[in-house]
Amino acid sequence: MIYCKSLIFFFVATVLFGLSHFSGVEAETTRYKLEPDMIASGVFVFWGKQESFSRENGANIVNTGFIVGRDAILAIDTGPTRLYAEEMIEAIKAVSPLPIRHAVVTHHHGDHAFGIQTFKKNNINILMHPKAKNLLAEEGAVLFGYLENLIGLDWTTGTEVDLPTSLLEKERMIDLGQRPVLIIPYEGGHTPGDLVIYDITSKTLFAGDLVFNGRAATIPHADISTWLDHLDTLEKQDWESLIPGHGPLLSKNQALDSTRTYLAFLRETAGAAISRGTTLAEIMTTVIPSPFDQLATVNSEFLRAMTTLFRQLEDEQFKSSPSTK
Ligand SMILES: [Zn+2]
Repeated sequence: MIYCKSLIFFFVATVLFGLSHFSGVEAETTRYKLEPDMIASGVFVFWGKQESFSRENGANIVNTGFIVGRDAILAIDTGPTRLYAEEMIEAIKAVSPLPIRHAVVTHHHGDHAFGIQTFKKNNINILMHPKAKNLLAEEGAVLFGYLENLIGLDWTTGTEVDLPTSLLEKERMIDLGQRPVLIIPYEGGHTPGDLVIYDITSKTLFAGDLVFNGRAATIPHADISTWLDHLDTLEKQDWESLIPGHGPLLSKNQALDSTRTYLAFLRETAGAAISRGTTLAEIMTTVIPSPFDQLATVNSEFLRAMTTLFRQLEDEQFKSSPSTK
């Protein structure tokens, strides 16, 4: 009888939840195994993979991190899912017993912002630029659907798009206890509302997606001219190490050329194609020239970028043509 009952339970549970919950397979595969890398005293990075979103990586393609002061900890970005954010918090707690008081979300894209709810549940103050908050409110559900499609429910389960607890439009200093950290807004470049985080003590700059290193920049919310200006400003800041949103660390005096030259290449390619009367379909067959063909994810990102830029440039041409005035 007991045997029979447990057999029925197993059958019902399998139908309801799928076998993997009972075999332990899911628990094995849906862990990010985040490991903090100390890049300066009290400054840690979780390095993401140089890949596109996939069922294998669960969208762990983003660099996040944290800074430890005497009294408190500040996290940089919240990762793409609830699971990621939980692991991130767990990994931070394994490094230091101090409270995580703040999490600065550099912009509204899902790989950086979809862990917000988990940080909120842990009573952590979530800071964001107001324009990024508005975009997250408007587009979060669509961006999340896109992410879920690409990485699968095993990774996204329990993730809910949520909004920050505080907004920051002007430069602000946060003291973590003998450790002042500057939060600096950079508007209208990569997205309308990006934030960068500068640890004065170690001269580490967390640049979010204003800087990509060795990976094709994403531009769905970008204004390339403003972004290029921001890169000049960022380059002049006094940093020893710069942590890009994607890709490996940059050291003092290294130019931000990986992002700069690719953005300029995108703009020139789209501009030249439009003035030659080339169609978008034709441009999709472009062979990406060296050195840009070496960038991670460039094949998919180039096509997305061209679609965005074609639309932008055609709009501009339409607005400025005499017949429309
Ligand atoms: Zn990103």
